[in-house]
Amino acid sequence: MTKAVFPGSFDPITIGHVEIIRRAAEIFDKVYVSILDNPAKSRQFSLEERMELIRDAIKDIPNAEADHDSGLLTDYCRKKGINVIVRGIRNGSDVEYESMLESVNTKIAPELKTVYLIAKAEYAYISSSLVRQLIEIGISIDGLVPNADHKILRRD
Ligand code: ADP
Repeated sequence: MTKAVFPGSFDPITIGHVEIIRRAAEIFDKVYVSILDNPAKSRQFSLEERMELIRDAIKDIPNAEADHDSGLLTDYCRKKGINVIVRGIRNGSDVEYESMLESVNTKIAPELKTVYLIAKAEYAYISSSLVRQLIEIGISIDGLVPNADHKILRRD
């Protein structure tokens, strides 16, 4: 049984994330979609809100599960028996950043393997920070997040 984790801050989850999760769920037996961020870092949405939006977004993917942890990704993987880390790649800067992260993770936990899924071209421009900026200036986020009507994302 191959368990994978798709770690991130998901502040908030976007359709770009969901597309990666769907593909990962076809490849691996189990996919944990896990918020593993520094609790000291300030976020637009609270941990509970981000978890609720993830749960809502993946409810039709039976082998995907929302989770969170405040420790190191490598410790989390050991604790849960996870062997694969899934990350999404949108552009060249993601490649640079992700290869640096992979080197660090491999140094700490050589048994963990990272797998990269390339964003579909039409989703490559979508990021959580774009969604946050649009919310801030009051522009619709329909089509960018899986659950734009969710009460957590509505500002009325
Ligand atoms: P982090 O703070 O760890 O980068 P994010 O929630 O921003 O957390 O992203 C989590 C993962 O999802 C990263 O691997 C990121 O590259 C990937 N990702 C983000 N947006 C997209 C997208 N539109 N298409 C594919 N992958 C994406």
